[in-house]
Amino acid sequence: MSKPNDKNDNVISMSKCPAEGCSKKAERMDFCNEHFMWFKEGLINRKGQKPRDFDKKFQDFMRRSKKAA
Ligand SMILES: [Zn+2]
Repeated sequence: MSKPNDKNDNVISMSKCPAEGCSKKAERMDFCNEHFMWFKEGLINRKGQKPRDFDKKFQDFMRRSKKAA
């Protein structure tokens, strides 16, 4: 009986959130919960980089999230 040599198949990916200045653990996709939201809102791209019009987008985002609260 030969068992396939399973290498590190079950390595837990403990990647960190790629967003600038964030050192939280990645929980959803590659982001922490907070920055996953940012990503969904288009505030950062998949690499955690901010777009040129980040400030504007961020303000919109804050305005919206305040309303929702
Ligand atoms: Zn983060």
